[in-house]
Parts: sequence; C-alpha cells; structure tokens
Amino acid sequence: MSSRLPVSRSRRISLLSVSTYRITLTPKLFFSTDHLPPVYKNNPNLLRGYEAAKTITAELLSGTKAAAVEVLMNAFGLAISAVQRPLSRGYNPADKTMMIEAGKWTRRYWQNPVLARFSPVEVTPGVAAQTDKETVHALLKQDALTIIFAHQSGTCSMLPDKYGGCVRSDLRVYGTKKLSIVDASIIPLVPATHMQATMYAVAEKAADIIKLRNIFWRSVKKMV
Ligand SMILES: Cc1cc2nc3c(=O)[nH]c(=O)nc-3n(C[C@H](O)[C@H](O)[C@H](O)COP(=O)(O)OP(=O)(O)OC[C@H]3O[C@@H](n4cnc5c(N)ncnc54)[C@H](O)[C@@H]3O)c2cc1C
Repeated sequence: MSSRLPVSRSRRISLLSVSTYRITLTPKLFFSTDHLPPVYKNNPNLLRGYEAAKTITAELLSGTKAAAVEVLMNAFGLAISAVQRPLSRGYNPADKTMMIEAGKWTRRYWQNPVLARFSPVEVTPGVAAQTDKETVHALLKQDALTIIFAHQSGTCSMLPDKYGGCVRSDLRVYGTKKLSIVDASIIPLVPATHMQATMYAVAEKAADIIKLRNIFWRSVKKMV
C-alpha cells in the first residue's frame, strides 16, 4: 500500500452515505414559509417554484444516487465540506443538519486506522466541539462557515412564469423581446458540481439556440 495521500481528492456523496438522516417532507417543512425572504411571501409564482424545487430536492436526497455533500480533501489535511443541494432560500434547518452530518463523516474518515500513521490533528472545529450546537458555534467563531462555494447560480431561473421563472426556454427574459441571458444564473436547480464544465455545456446549447434564431429570420426575410 502506498504511504502517500492523493494530492487532492474531492468526493460527492449522498446523504444516506454520510448519515441515516433522511429528508422527509413533513407538512411543516413543506408548507412552512417561516424562513423565506419577504419577497416570497406575496408572490404565489415564486412560492410554487420553490415548492417544486423542494420536492425534487427531497427526492434526490432520499436516495443514494444523487450527491448531497461534497467533501474535498488534500494531502496537507485540509477537508472542506460543501452542501450540494441546499433547500434554503434564506435559511432552512435541513441544510444546517446536512452540513453537520458532512462534518461528522469527515471526522469518522480521519479516524480510519489506515490514516493513523499521518497522526491527524483536528484543528477546525476542534475536538472540544462535540455536540451539533458546539460544532456550529466553533465553526462560526473560527470564521470557517461560508455561505457559498464560489458556485453562484439560479438567480434568473429558466422556468415557466408560473414557477417564478425569469428566462424562457429560448433564453429570452420574460416581458422582453431582445434581452437574453446565458450564464449560471439561468440554472433552475443548483447542480451538485463545480460549475465550469456545466457552463461550457450551457454555452454550447445557447450558441445553437441563438444561431437558430438567425436562420429562422433569414428564411422569413427570403420569403417576403
Ligand atoms: C474563486 C473561484 C474558483 C472557482 N473554481 C472552480 C473550479 O475549480 N472548477 C469549476 O468547475 N468551477 C469553478 N468556479 C466556478 C466557475 O468559475 C463559475 O461557476 C463559472 O465561471 C460561471 O460561469 P458564468 O458564465 O455564469 O459566469 P462568468 O464565468 O463569471 O462569466 C461572466 C462573463 O461576463 C463578463 N461580464 C460581466 N459583466 C459584463 C458586462 N456588463 N458587459 C460585458 N461582459 C460582462 C465577465 O467579464 C465574464 O467574462 C470557481 C469560481 C470562483 C469565483
């Protein structure tokens, strides 16, 4: 067996792989608007879209095929956990639970006897933090919690208007004729991945859509 650790390893794992915690859409979780930002309160379209996203996310999280968290590790012992399928629009307690479960999984991983020869020492949140409350408190105190993993997306979702969408399937913004959006903001559901390759695919598809527009108008002009 090699005594070297891989330089950098990123694993995306399902919720059921890190924990027995299962997302269940209790009426409280499903219908609660307690934690939503004010903009959702009087906007039935946005609420409908959020509920649809929540249903899909809960389904994905209840199986073993979709990633719930990413755990990124490298040779000098840095281990970062990132929630991949957040339910929060503002805040949702399920996301906090997923984050804590990912941290516990990382702790268990480093306790594996195979890794003992590297004498790992937990720095963050530190072994003093054992309960969930202590863990969150320690992470906040050490400034070790960030809101996003540099993968912003979904602020102008490509969705039907009745789900609070911003962009039509032809990339045009609702209510406009000449304004199109092609970037990570049009992705309606946060993908469990780093975004660059996904954005290359979105851009390729968008180029086809835009070229088709020109072909259409050129043939219309020829006909008149
Ligand atoms: C620090 C960091 C590290 C990352 N690491 C990775 C990684 O390792 N792997 C990975 O897969 N993803 C990574 N990502 C994520 C990935 O880079 C982004 O998700 C992706 O680039 C988003 O693509 P985009 O087309 O939406 O936006 P961008 O790539 O930001 O493209 C937007 C473009 O629009 C231009 N622009 C903005 N405003 C205007 C304007 N008014 N007029 C004209 N042009 C304008 C900008 O200059 C830019 O070129 C990382 C992101 C960050 C911030």
